[in-house]
Amino acid sequence: MPIECENISFKYWTKLVLDDISLQFGKGHLYGILGPNGSGKTTLLKVLCGILKSKYGQVVVDEFNIKKMNISDVAKKIAVVEQSTSIDFDYSVREIVKMGRFTHIGRFSKETSEEKKIVNEILEQFNLSELENRGYNTLSGGEQQKVIIARAIAQQSKILLLDEPTTHLDLNYQIEFMERLRKYINDGIIVIIIIHDVNLATQFCDKIVLLKEGRVIAFGNREEIITRKNLKLIYNIDVVVRKNPFSNSIYIIPHKIEFPTSMRYDNNFKIKKIHVIAGGGAASKILPKLNDYDVSVGIVNVLDDDYILANELNYRIISEAPFSPITNDSSEELKTILKNVDLIILANIPFGITNLKNLEILNESNKKIVLFERNPIEDRDFTEGIATTIYNNLKSKSNVKTTNNLHDLFKFIESMEE
Ligand code: ADP
Repeated sequence: MPIECENISFKYWTKLVLDDISLQFGKGHLYGILGPNGSGKTTLLKVLCGILKSKYGQVVVDEFNIKKMNISDVAKKIAVVEQSTSIDFDYSVREIVKMGRFTHIGRFSKETSEEKKIVNEILEQFNLSELENRGYNTLSGGEQQKVIIARAIAQQSKILLLDEPTTHLDLNYQIEFMERLRKYINDGIIVIIIIHDVNLATQFCDKIVLLKEGRVIAFGNREEIITRKNLKLIYNIDVVVRKNPFSNSIYIIPHKIEFPTSMRYDNNFKIKKIHVIAGGGAASKILPKLNDYDVSVGIVNVLDDDYILANELNYRIISEAPFSPITNDSSEELKTILKNVDLIILANIPFGITNLKNLEILNESNKKIVLFERNPIEDRDFTEGIATTIYNNLKSKSNVKTTNNLHDLFKFIESMEE
């Protein structure tokens, strides 16, 4: 195996942090290490690359014991991106990425055109070409993170270890980055990554290590490891594990924690039911204000901002797999919910082919509907006019009211009580 550890135990002074860990990492896989804070993930990564030396057990890289290798030999085989990296001098982006090449060309060698080309390609891959002369310390957290990862890639090592590389990256770039890691896997690189987001891990990592209190609780293919039982054991949360019908990968949804007393669940009080069609954070100012009603939200994707907010607010959610079009099951669920609501609010969301079904179902409803319209539908229509036609038809109906003002929206909701 290119990298493996056998019976590793590690102590900081007297505290045992890794307890008899044996793992083997082979080519062609993206490994995700998951576990609660303090479970030993970072320590394990540091032991794997020789930053920390364990007294017990051994790490073997390409059949060499890592303790017997010098730093430069290790760097040729393993590139590491630690959780936070401070750069003392204000080197430029280009200079830092070039440092990744020192393992191959030496610090003081003249830069050849071939070397320049490699650095240029890596800068381009990470969308850093325009920033190449900027000082590292003037960059945002996300940009700095990209530079440090780019430096590690420049090392062109066969093994890449990354400690929470997606933390400072925005959602779009997280996906792009994880997709890029998959490409490195196809080039024969082994990638081992510590990652917090279970859904991101299950979508992109094919092998998962679950750590708890310094022990490996489970290790293997993601479908076998990301189970309700294991996640309960590791994080003490109850989840539903579902399969994304489009990508075939699995994802999890945490079960809601029911609040014991809430006005919305008091049977003596007739609570109005409101459904909000949301997405992409467009309902972020509406949802928190509806706390006194019986609220449902959807159809939204599981990783969506409005999904996360609705979940925090303990609202019922009709959800779809992350990044996937609306399925028939979710459509039927929405239709059933809409039959019993007092009011439907359509937030100022953009429409694409993936979420158009929301609008079609809304168009069939004869309930009271408020269209919250911050921007004209034409600006939010990515369906070549289909959404605009349905929306305008909806707007002309007598059960539909349109407003662009949050104050008016809440006044209207209050007036329903009378
Ligand atoms: P994780 O990455 O899973 O959050 P760590 O490997 O960072 O876990 O830490 C595991 C345990 O070791 C924690 O209890 C942490 O407080 C402790 N620890 C981490 N680094 C040190 C250190 N340098 N000295 C002493 N204890 C440490």
